[in-house]
Amino acid sequence: MTDSPALVRPDRRAELAAGLARVRARIADACAAAGRDRAEVTMIAVTKTYPAADVVALASLGVTDVGENRDQEAATKATQVAAAGVSPRWHFIGRLQRNKVKSVIRYADVVQSVDSVRLASALDAAATAGRDHPLDVLVQVSIDADPARGGTVPDSADPDVGLGPVAAAVAAAPGLRLAGLMAVAPLGWEPERAFERLAMVAAAFRADHPEATALSAGMSGDLEAAIDHGATHVRVGSALLGMRPTLR
Ligand SMILES: *Cc1c(COP(=O)(O)O)cnc(C)c1O
Repeated sequence: MTDSPALVRPDRRAELAAGLARVRARIADACAAAGRDRAEVTMIAVTKTYPAADVVALASLGVTDVGENRDQEAATKATQVAAAGVSPRWHFIGRLQRNKVKSVIRYADVVQSVDSVRLASALDAAATAGRDHPLDVLVQVSIDADPARGGTVPDSADPDVGLGPVAAAVAAAPGLRLAGLMAVAPLGWEPERAFERLAMVAAAFRADHPEATALSAGMSGDLEAAIDHGATHVRVGSALLGMRPTLR
């Protein structure tokens, strides 16, 4: 019964069901506390380091969206999951090198981590050549404006990594559809402070791009604060699947 990469043991399935029930309850409670409609928030199961079988089991439990942060792992897993007859929406959420875009556009439905004009151009070229419909893109924002950990910088005039120039490049790209913003709370910051700042950046961004309404923020440790500040997508890994063996 464990021979196929697509099957989980019953005890693992029960563990995932319990994790999912806990996370769903947290999201529902956070929406209620914030006075928001539960239907406004999509949970993305971040399955990095976990096998395709977990993705298939989560899909059978009603999970529709899956996140991965490394191309090689994601490409293999997406192929195995598709072979099992399951087709969740795949979100690429990790740092993306331009030499990986051709691979990523084959399985990803959304790329959440676009943070330079050069990356947007490479993705557009690959998506235009290799897909029959535009790729959804979220522009990643650096909340603390530290470019070392990825993300565009709000209020920067830098023509490659300023939020404005990157958003404009995505919006103008025929192979891409600008869907919104993504961010990770900086290490050492109170989530409240981080997501309050992000909400201000998002409000200014939506004045220029009213159709780009997605706001991907919040993980296992801080999804409540993110929902309180308007997140439409939360990316949940460890609270759902268990602690990962390596920190990444
Ligand atoms: C790993 C990861 C997550 C999930 O983190 P957890 O703390 O396990 O919920 C969310 N977003 C990004 C960008 C990640 O790399």
